[in-house]
Amino acid sequence: AFWGDIALDEDDLKLFQIDTTVDLTKHSDGSARHTSGGLGEEVSSENATSTDHSDKAVKKDSRQNTTLARSPKRKEYKDEPGMDTHSSPRVRRATTSRAERIWPGGVIPYVIGGNFTGAQRAIFKQAMRHWEKHTCVTFVERTDEESFIVFTYRTCGCCSYVGRRGGGPQAISIGKNCDKFGIVAHELGHVVGFWHEHTRPDRDQHVTIIRENIQQGQEYNFLKMEAGEVNSLGETYDFDSIMHYARNTFSRGVFLDTILPRRDDNGVRPTIGQRIRLSQGDIAQARKLYKCPACGETLQDSTGNFSAPGFPNGYPSYSHCVWRISVTPGEKIMLNFTSMDLFKSRLCWYDYVEVRDGYWRKAPLLGEFCGDKIPEPVISTDSRLWIEFRSSSNILGKGFFGVYEAICGGEIHKDAGQIQSPNYPDDYRPSKECIWRITVSEGFHIGITFQAFEIEWHDACSYDFLEIRDGLTEQSPLIGRFCGYEKPEDIKSSSNKVWMKFASDATINKAGFAANFFKEMDECSLPDNGGCEQHCENTLGSYKCTCEPGYELTADKKSCEAACGGFITKLNGTITSPGWPKEYPTNKNCVWQVVAPAQYRISLQFEVFELEGNDVCKYDYVEVRSELASDSKLHGKFCGSEKPEVITSYGNNMRLEFKSDNTVSKKGFKVHYFSDKDECSKDNGGCQHECINTFGSYMCQCRNGFMLHENSHDCKE
Ligand SMILES: [Zn+2]
Repeated sequence: AFWGDIALDEDDLKLFQIDTTVDLTKHSDGSARHTSGGLGEEVSSENATSTDHSDKAVKKDSRQNTTLARSPKRKEYKDEPGMDTHSSPRVRRATTSRAERIWPGGVIPYVIGGNFTGAQRAIFKQAMRHWEKHTCVTFVERTDEESFIVFTYRTCGCCSYVGRRGGGPQAISIGKNCDKFGIVAHELGHVVGFWHEHTRPDRDQHVTIIRENIQQGQEYNFLKMEAGEVNSLGETYDFDSIMHYARNTFSRGVFLDTILPRRDDNGVRPTIGQRIRLSQGDIAQARKLYKCPACGETLQDSTGNFSAPGFPNGYPSYSHCVWRISVTPGEKIMLNFTSMDLFKSRLCWYDYVEVRDGYWRKAPLLGEFCGDKIPEPVISTDSRLWIEFRSSSNILGKGFFGVYEAICGGEIHKDAGQIQSPNYPDDYRPSKECIWRITVSEGFHIGITFQAFEIEWHDACSYDFLEIRDGLTEQSPLIGRFCGYEKPEDIKSSSNKVWMKFASDATINKAGFAANFFKEMDECSLPDNGGCEQHCENTLGSYKCTCEPGYELTADKKSCEAACGGFITKLNGTITSPGWPKEYPTNKNCVWQVVAPAQYRISLQFEVFELEGNDVCKYDYVEVRSELASDSKLHGKFCGSEKPEVITSYGNNMRLEFKSDNTVSKKGFKVHYFSDKDECSKDNGGCQHECINTFGSYMCQCRNGFMLHENSHDCKE
């Protein structure tokens, strides 16, 4: 079911006490239409009420559930006769379920579905960063979290659930007409936990709903949520909220108002329905909803600073501040405290500032500081830092002052790793310059392979480029300067150091590059030749052994042994077991296929024969067949030391297979093959009676009582 662009699940429906869910369901298509609402969204918010509670929540009032949820507790739906009233048990249930709708720690894991363009992804990220900037919610790429949001496209067009559903993924649908920053920010408002502002219980004091101008069937979008006992006393109604409808949302005509602010300052009514940015009211409410610390902020610029409250005149006792630094992915943060004066206690028990390597208080601790010693610079592993300050002493120091800077590139001392352009796979930023200096273990080279490469093209790579040098400085010999859309070839440095520079100019940004580097050595230059018996060939990141012609690599991939088998078309010659005249190797399988011209037959005559085994021939053996296939007519399977008799093929092809098992090697075999034309096979050799083939010739024979004629073919009495 939908309520405007709000997707309602079963709990929501219970909350609304709607017996006839059908009504809402029926309207679900309407949500897709909400674009008609001028500024783009429709839906009602009930959040307004919550405000008052939040104040109490902050004061640790027992009310916090109510507050966060801003839950509509409905005792009566005055405007909607169709909906019924609720009893207080319902109310309680509603609030409980709402508390579960808050994202724990304000952390909202997300996944961006597959079909969005880079530009759309950029908008999603900008909208998420906007929420992070002004509140303490955090959007993180989902790893193994159970509950998370998925940017996707559903038939509703633009829609989202309110708050965290729990128990798996929940869709935030961004349709074609809503891939705008402000609309995405509005949908994220639902994700964070907001209903539409104009559905606040007290909205009638602030706006007038003009029912006759509402499109038929869309009236439900203007339902009002119900005030709880405390909720209704809230903060000011926020005309400027990004969660508010516009004046003509769901109007029968563009110029007909459906919602009109009641306030009229000398003929000027407040503007409603903005989709530009969070309003001050949105920010204040979200901060209460998530109990954001009153002190501290989110820092997103590439440089910035922060300081203890009151600095340098002393911080208050019982301060609590959180700063979150978030630069673009692919960059790191270097944080320097330029001033430090906090009450010093053992283990910094009372007053301290701590720095964590990530987006929240559970991230790895990089340092905890108190006293007056200026800490060493702190560098993040990734693009976020969490800084928390607490004071619990009554003894005041001046406080501290911190300065940070986003850095890309830097010194890398690792034997393998990945290098990406800043912000990859999103477009890199204009006028960026990153320099990496990579050093791997002494005695190695550096190999670099590219996974992705997309940098603005210019035939001299004059605008944006990646430059790689063979050494640690800008003066080192140039390996290459790359741009365009084709991955560069693999790269190998001559020493264990490489200098890499990525630079972009002021215009045209692309996805950038991703590359792996690793320590690379020439194994073949080692005294043992890489362990290769014959030849060693170095490759990037590895090496391989090779063998001379007539030899092949054995199973250990290092030694070579005689190659065996083959396709033979010579009329005669000799075949020997592999390794001849030495013993044949174990685990060898060779197949020779001998092919002679038509009318020829092939004979085998063994000169030497010595294989493991006896009658059974189940270990090592030689198998001879006519024709070439492994299942063709078998002449015999031979082993032991008894030489087989001469074997002659039935046709002009023959197959000889040798196989040895993994034990006991013997001398092997040597066999001569002869191909001989069978003159008798055609026209009986011209013989009148019988034709007898001989090696290299043939002869005619006559039946009893006949004699061979002088012409050697005919018979006479
Ligand atoms: Zn909405």
